[in-house]
Amino acid sequence: MRHRIIVLGAGYAGAASAGHLARRLHPDDVEITVVSADPDFVERMRLHQLAAGQELRRLPLTRMFAGTGIRLRVARVTALDADRRTVTVTDGKGTDQLEYDTLLYTLGSTSADHGVPGVDEHAFNVADRPSAQRLRERLDELGDRGRVTVVGGNLTGIEAATEIAESRPGLRVALATSGEVGGWLGDKARRHLLRAFDRLGIAIHQQTTVDGVDAAGVHVDGGSVLPADVTVWAAGFATHPIAAASGLEVEENGQITVDRMMRSVSHPEVYAAGDSAHAIGDNGAPLPMSCASANLTRAQATATVVGDLTGREVSKAPLFYPGNCVSLGGKDALFQVVDGEARSKSWALRGWAATRVKAAVLRTVTWNTGNPTYGLPSRRRRLTPGPVRAAKAVAD
Ligand SMILES: Cc1cc2nc3c(=O)[nH]c(=O)nc-3n(C[C@H](O)[C@H](O)[C@H](O)COP(=O)(O)OP(=O)(O)OC[C@H]3O[C@@H](n4cnc5c(N)ncnc54)[C@H](O)[C@@H]3O)c2cc1C
Repeated sequence: MRHRIIVLGAGYAGAASAGHLARRLHPDDVEITVVSADPDFVERMRLHQLAAGQELRRLPLTRMFAGTGIRLRVARVTALDADRRTVTVTDGKGTDQLEYDTLLYTLGSTSADHGVPGVDEHAFNVADRPSAQRLRERLDELGDRGRVTVVGGNLTGIEAATEIAESRPGLRVALATSGEVGGWLGDKARRHLLRAFDRLGIAIHQQTTVDGVDAAGVHVDGGSVLPADVTVWAAGFATHPIAAASGLEVEENGQITVDRMMRSVSHPEVYAAGDSAHAIGDNGAPLPMSCASANLTRAQATATVVGDLTGREVSKAPLFYPGNCVSLGGKDALFQVVDGEARSKSWALRGWAATRVKAAVLRTVTWNTGNPTYGLPSRRRRLTPGPVRAAKAVAD
């Protein structure tokens, strides 16, 4: 029987990981199955563009995986039992249990509501494609009149507010945040950001704590209301609850606790990457939930899976977060470089040049993910026998 590898999720971490494994492991030895709720690879980094009204290219996973030997199961993962090594999935036809020998968990993240009342019922978000699509339909209903309040002064809030304001200039867009908008940026980058907000007519409410959302708008600081026809919730990402309920060791925020090589610390046949993994970067701090981190962690996770299964030494992939590339609508952007401690440097690329960098990043990441095996084959390694593998994992 072939060694069964299941990859949960086909986002930036999962799709590329599956391709890498198909390229490096011998198909006579392994059977690779990807489980994805969505039949397409979803470019999450462009979902604010979708919400603002742009069309995104469809990238069907069947086409991406064609000729690779990777089996695709379009289904929703509802549970994982890490002790019994089973995954429960459901699709239009019913519920099924899949067994694995090796699992790579890359289910990503969703919008974090932080327990604020009314968010689920009244706010929109851009954390996944259906949500971004719903926001787009609501904005279409508004036409060119109405108020939009974006909650969150970090990357996603900034990208959503600027994209909506630029694409729909008739709307009155505001951003509310408990801290400072783009507070982590260096001085030059932050000044550029504030100028962009000014140019796009986005009102800013800083040091403003949102304690409720309803049909009238956003309730702040225990009393006043910022009126809004549409509230966009962009106050961070949260993990899916599946890992925490699976028996895997997880962090307080539900991310899977992994070692430097992306193995679960409680179940070494389980690996995690992307937003789902609590990975510590080379600077000793947790990597932020980001596409950049997903690329770093999935490179390490796949190298480790290949090493563990073939008995080869696993090399350490760099876990170094380079910085944030933030779009400010379609014609402006910022690339804030960070130092080894993830602190913003005073220098940042701004305007047209940063827009080009951002476009190149989006294109490259999507090309890499969309061509997961770079057109097989590479040097596909044979697996070591089970007992040798087990002994190696214990020794590591
Ligand atoms: C609007 C927006 C803009 C962003 N901009 C940037 C940026 O500029 N730079 C940056 O670095 N990061 C950015 N991010 C963050 C980045 O997109 C995420 O950190 C990244 O997608 C994480 O990759 P991942 O593979 O872990 O998860 P994802 O890309 O989310 O992939 C998760 C996969 O799991 C699947 N899945 C989820 N739940 C289930 C389930 N129950 N059953 C089956 N399948 C499931 C999904 O369909 C998907 O295929 C942005 C995010 C958003 C929403």
